[in-house]
Formats: sequence, structure tokens, C-alpha cells
Amino acid sequence: FTKDSQEMEYKLVKYNEKLEHMASIDPLTGLYNRRSMRSYLKKIVGKYASGEIGYVSVAIGDIDFFKKTNDTYGHDAGDEVLRTLSRLFCTVIGEKGEVCRWGGEEFLFVFPGMDMEEVQLLMSDLLDDIRHTPVLYERKLIHVTMTFGVEEFGRNHTMESVIQEADRKLYLGKESGRNRVIY
Ligand code: GH3
Ligand code: MG
Ligand code: MG
Repeated sequence: FTKDSQEMEYKLVKYNEKLEHMASIDPLTGLYNRRSMRSYLKKIVGKYASGEIGYVSVAIGDIDFFKKTNDTYGHDAGDEVLRTLSRLFCTVIGEKGEVCRWGGEEFLFVFPGMDMEEVQLLMSDLLDDIRHTPVLYERKLIHVTMTFGVEEFGRNHTMESVIQEADRKLYLGKESGRNRVIY
């Protein structure tokens, strides 16, 4: 009986871990989803508030004219673009921060310990990589660009307001021609 209940408990623990994983990961890209990014950001903001880290910066990126990409190459090709870009994000940011699929074709990046200047440089490098990394899909090369808004966490920011501010800059970037980083 004891052995059986131990086995049962083990299975439940494993099952819970699996559910937890499924609830925190975006299935298409394998990146964190919005939910898990929120809890990560909350933790980082706590470290900032306590003075454990001196800077926190965030960046929001959105693929330019992605509707056109889908219309031209098909929805599956669009999905492949999302997967390829997600891999590129992980390679470029490495251990410096975290990235999530914030929704649709939007991604939120969080960089603990980095100021706006550093993050702006990193995102500009990333944008260069994106411009020079066409996505191969069914023997076609798909070129995309992105627009980014960058904001540094300040004493009077909340988690919501710093994201809002980055989002506002993203919008300005879209308005002023896309394919750029606004900070
Ligand atoms: P903008 O430069 O202003 O951002 O233009 P846009 O076309 O990228 O923006 P819009 O909001 O008009 O369209 C976003 C498109 O992203 C439409 C939607 O079908 C597509 N999209 C969102 N999620 C997915 C997805 O999971 N897969 C695919 N293939 N497309 C997606
Ligand atoms: Mg877009
Ligand atoms: Mg969008």
C-alpha cells in the first residue's frame, strides 16, 4: 500500500510539473508566455526596489508588416518566422536577460542590471541580425524587420508603467518608419 501511494504521489508531482510547464511556455515558440514573464518581472522589480540590482530595462519588439508576410507566404510561413526569430532572440540575449512572447507577433525583453543605453545597443545589434537573417521556408527566403521600444525602470515606475512606456516608444517607432529602436 505504501509503495503504491508513493508511486501515486510521484506521478502527481511529475504531472503537476508538466502542467506548470505547459502553463508558462508558449507552445509555438517555446518562449515564456506573458504569464510567466509577469512573475519573472515582478521578481526582478523586487530586486531593484531592494537595491540588489541597480538597473532594469525592458524592450518591446513587434514584427513589421507581419500581416503582409502571412498574406504573401501563408500562415505556416508566418509561424516559421516566429520560431526562427525566437531562436535568434535567445542566442542574442544569452544570459543577459529574458524574453517572452508577449502576444501575437510581439515580444517583451527584460534585462536586469542593464541601463537603457546598453539595451539600446543590444537591440540595435539584434535588429541588424534580424535584417540579415532571412527565414527559409519551402525554399523561399522571407525577409522581415522589427521595431523596438526600450525603457529603463526608474524609481517612480511600476511594472505596468515601464511596459507602457516601452510600448509608447514602439508606437513612435512604427509611426516614424519602423525597422528601428526607439529609446
Ligand atoms: P505593423 O508593422 O504595424 O506591426 O503591422 P502588422 O501587419 O505587423 O500588424 P497587424 O497588427 O496589422 O497584424 C499582425 C499580424 O500578426 C496579424 C496576425 O495574423 C499575425 N499573427 C499574430 N499571431 C500570429 C501567429 O501565431 N502566427 C502567424 N502566422 N501570424 C500571427
Ligand atoms: Mg506587427
Ligand atoms: Mg502587433
